[in-house]
Amino acid sequence: MLTKAPLALNGLGRCFITEKHLYALNVIRRGLVFSENGRDSSKTEVYDVVISGGGMVGSAMACSLGMDPNLAGKKILLLEAGHKKVMDRVPGTYSTRVSSISPGSATLLSSIGAWEHITRMRYKPYKRMQVWDACSDALITFDKEDLLDEMAYIVENDIVVAAITRQLDTLPENVQVKYKSKVVKYTWPTPHHAAESVPWVKVTLANGETLQTKLLIGADGPNSMVRQKLGIPTVKWNYDQSAVVAVLRLSEIKSSAIQRLSI
Ligand SMILES: Cc1cc2nc3c(=O)[nH]c(=O)nc-3n(C[C@H](O)[C@H](O)[C@H](O)COP(=O)(O)OP(=O)(O)OC[C@H]3O[C@@H](n4cnc5c(N)ncnc54)[C@H](O)[C@@H]3O)c2cc1C
Repeated sequence: MLTKAPLALNGLGRCFITEKHLYALNVIRRGLVFSENGRDSSKTEVYDVVISGGGMVGSAMACSLGMDPNLAGKKILLLEAGHKKVMDRVPGTYSTRVSSISPGSATLLSSIGAWEHITRMRYKPYKRMQVWDACSDALITFDKEDLLDEMAYIVENDIVVAAITRQLDTLPENVQVKYKSKVVKYTWPTPHHAAESVPWVKVTLANGETLQTKLLIGADGPNSMVRQKLGIPTVKWNYDQSAVVAVLRLSEIKSSAIQRLSI
């Protein structure tokens, strides 16, 4: 899911996002426009960075940027359509939406202080994974039993977001989060803007509020509106399959993850 992504946004004249993988995150370069004279042509609030979508990726991004000393004082806004995910205590039942978090992702979450919260809430490390096919004897086993390190960790998505949210709450006020704030429209700046046009990306929320941003980061999930509106193509096809997601109570618990693929 999340991979270590060293981020350096140096001023507003330049933007670098060096990354090997930041899964499902699109950095919208077309939405980045520089103003030579720095003046704002609208009275709406202007942010340095707006992150659209406060799931695991967007929240981690906001936290990472907010903690970056190079960005101290920059106005950063995270917009999330849903409500705030706080977790005062871990629910008795497991959520069916879980992720396998790689050690690299755990390191990233640790660097923003969220991993400690996760380990205090609920997670399950595993050192072995067995995947087998239902229509043949094909079987593959990933084994790290002889190594000290874990292969990965299974964590409920809600716990990941709640842990990052807790960290977001500790950040200074230049990092804002707006929940129940669904973006309904993006207006891109024109390359050679006329005197009356807005030089930044204009973001319109469902409640009619508008704001502007110098850098827009799309982290709005698999049906990303940011991606669609920018015309970034994706390749996908239907497998014509359904899935059942369930929580199982096992009689024997080992540090092993199992996956069964069936048709
Ligand atoms: C069944 C299943 C199993 C998976 N297993 C794994 C796994 O084991 N390991 C792994 O790494 N990954 C796994 N994934 C993938 C992983 O869940 C996703 O990559 C991850 O959730 C993506 O996070 P995200 O924050 O990008 O998107 P999301 O979790 O979809 O979050 C997007 C957020 O954007 C908000 N949003 C959307 N539109 C707007 C808008 N217009 N305005 C404001 N906010 C908006 C939504 O409310 C949402 O909170 C799995 C996915 C599925 C479906």
